[in-house]
This record gives sequence, structure tokens and C-alpha cells, in this order.
Amino acid sequence: MIKIKDKQFSVFIEEKEIQASISILAQEINHHYKGQEVVFIGVLNGAFMFASDLLKQIDLDCSISFVKVSSYKGTNSTGIVHELIGVNESLKGKNVVILEDIVDTGLTLDKVRVLLGAEHPNTLKIATLLFKPDAFLGKQEPDFIGLHIENKFVIGYGLDYDELGRNTRDIYKLTEENKNMLNIVLFGPPGAGKGTQSERLIEKYNLKHLSTGDIFRANIGGGTDLGKLAKSYIDKGQLVPDEVTIDMLKSEVSKYPDAKGFIFDGFPRTNAQATALDQFLASQDTSITAMIALDVPEEELKERLKKRAESSGRSDDADPKIIENRIAVYRKETEPVKTFYQAQNKYIAIDGVGTMDEISERLYISVDRLN
Ligand code: AMP
Repeated sequence: MIKIKDKQFSVFIEEKEIQASISILAQEINHHYKGQEVVFIGVLNGAFMFASDLLKQIDLDCSISFVKVSSYKGTNSTGIVHELIGVNESLKGKNVVILEDIVDTGLTLDKVRVLLGAEHPNTLKIATLLFKPDAFLGKQEPDFIGLHIENKFVIGYGLDYDELGRNTRDIYKLTEENKNMLNIVLFGPPGAGKGTQSERLIEKYNLKHLSTGDIFRANIGGGTDLGKLAKSYIDKGQLVPDEVTIDMLKSEVSKYPDAKGFIFDGFPRTNAQATALDQFLASQDTSITAMIALDVPEEELKERLKKRAESSGRSDDADPKIIENRIAVYRKETEPVKTFYQAQNKYIAIDGVGTMDEISERLYISVDRLN
């Protein structure tokens, strides 16, 4: 995610997808103009990166120059006059391809087409990296199109917001934050009571409970490949690798597009997971509202886990050595995640010792303050 001035943008099209679509465009153009000479004309400022990457893959005899469209208030009937700055050579009889970074309404492009058409080229075509069909009001669609995109405000890879943000490899879209969602990370060491309290929170606030531990255990029960993999780590009290856990969590969140919010229980457990969660939620136009930590002293944790082992049937609860290891992993890998949310002013700690009702009451007070 990046911030420019007052706005947040999340990754929309990754570099590799941009480059793959440019390769296909280059092949189409090479094929279309085989054996002919082409003059490429990039429309500044946005098209500079696209023009540069595309031209590297053109194997025709070609030249390139750049134009700027300037508009000023004139005295004709429309009031606005457009002119092209930078056309220094004669285009008469040439095959001209205009390069655009994006075509949305297409109105400027219509002007460029008319102005360049007046130079009497042999052929005049348009190649654009991005095309927004839903916004298009122009007369004629571009001839070569890299990617069709929805009607979102995009920046990066040459495209700007107030002249900023052109210098990125990926393309970003404006996030329209869904302010109504309540997304809480319930945090605390093993045995802190996250599972129990999550159940109460989802009931009271009508949220969805996502416990990565529960999802792994369901997979182990179901004998899936993911379950087999997870079991090999869980049984040793180690963390399941980030990549596996992150992918699994994303696919779980995606199952509930209409959720009012989520309680994340047992996730994120590493800084890499926290970063991935932020990026993923931003791509869904939402974010973490708060991390609420249940504070419980270590001795009490061990007592609770010992008790839980009698009834939970969890192999990782049964062996004191594995419990020790889980707590050690928590201190080393998971506790630093607190700093991640503190830096965003989203960290809240509450006393996790007391009756279940007392702890719930403290949680409700914290959550109500968030709204
Ligand atoms: P829990 O039920 O949250 O105590 O999780 C039980 C076990 O599942 C943990 O000790 C880890 O081995 C694994 N696990 C659960 N959540 C995660 C996560 N976010 N990242 C890595 N491993 C996890």
C-alpha cells in the first residue's frame, strides 16, 4: 500500500502482469506491421514507461517521439482549443502508432487522433496499455489494448495523482475504505483465552471468526494435504510457514464477501503475516480496525494450558515440552507483531485475568470505543 497526499492506494496490477501484457502487445504490433516502418508517438507524461518497455520488444524499423496535449481557452465556439506540442517531423505517408498509458473517456484521444490525422499519415492507430471500457465515451476504441480494467482511479507505472506516484513498477488503485467493517486482531499467547472470547465477540457484533489454528485442525481432521503439512509443524509447537498460512487465510476471507467484519484469532503471528494481511485487506477496500491483546502472566498461561489439555484432545496441548516451545515461539516471532500495530496506533491491551464474563466485559468496552 502507498500513500500520496491524502489518499491511500493498493496494488492493482503487478509488474509481471504489466510486462506480460506488454509482450503480447509488442507481438501484435510486430505482426501487424511486418516489413513496414512505424513512427511511434508517445503521449506525455503518462506514457513514458509504457513506451520505453514496449519499444524494447519491437523488432520493426521504427522511430519514436513524444507529444504533449495542451489545452487553452480560445475564442471558438467550444471555448477550449487543443494543440499538440512536439510534432517536429512530417508524418505524411507514415504508419503512425500513438502510445497511451490509459484510455478512459477517450475524449483527449479523439483530439489527438484528429490533430495527427491532419498530418496525413498513411495509417494511424492507437496502442494503449490500459483501457476502461465502462468510462469510454470516445468515437473509436483503441486498436491495440494491453489490459481492460474496471473504472477505478489508478496510478503508478507512469500514471499520476497530482503529478506524483508515476515512479512505481506496479499499478495501484485508490482504496475506497469500507469504514463500516469491524476487523479485529485478537492477540495473546497460547492459552490467553482468544478462542473463547472470539466466540462471544462474533455473537455480540455479528462478525466472522477466523481462527487459523481451527482451520488447520479441520484440515488435519479431514486428512487434506494442507492438514498433513500443518500437522508436521503443529505437533512440534512450530509455526506453519508464512506462505501457506497467508494463502489459506486469504482464501478464507474471500469466502465471506458480505461479512460485517472479522475476528482474526491466531493470525497474524509474524510481521510478514501482518504486512500481507494489511495489503490483502487494502485490496478489498478495508483494513484492520484494532489489535486487542489479552494480557496474561506466563504462570497462569501454563496452568490454563494444562487444564485445557485434559479436555481439548489437542496433541500440542498434551506435552509440556511442546507447550514451552509454543510459548517460546510466541515470544520470539509473534510478540513483535504488537509493534506493527502500535506503529499504526491500533494496539489496545486489556487485562486477560479474571472470570470469562469480566474479560468479555472489558473487551466489549474496548470494541464499543472503536465505533
Ligand atoms: P492455535 O490454535 O492458534 O493455538 O494454533 C495451533 C497451531 O497452529 C500453532 O501452534 C501453529 O503451529 C499453527 N498456527 C496457527 N495459526 C498460525 C499462524 N498464523 N501462523 C503459523 N502457524 C499457525
